Amino acid sequence: MKCKDVIVEFLADYVERALSPELTREVEAHLRSCAACMAYLNTYRKTRDLVGRQAAQVTMPEEMKDVLRRFMLKEMAKKSP
Ligand SMILES: [Zn+2]
Repeated sequence: MKCKDVIVEFLADYVERALSPELTREVEAHLRSCAACMAYLNTYRKTRDLVGRQAAQVTMPEEMKDVLRRFMLKEMAKKSP
């Protein structure tokens, strides 16, 4: 599982606990070995909490996803040589 897979495909469902047990394990295994994705997850959760409190909605607006994707790309760029 690559960072991009985790972030783009699975993280939102992981946070919502909507993934299958197999995928949940794969995402968790990746998170343990990847500081960038872990940081992204923390940011995602915080942002989601804020949005949820303000708007009382569970789904994250596309706009928010873009912000988080940009954050992730920045984190990944830092890791590159
Ligand atoms: Zn990663």
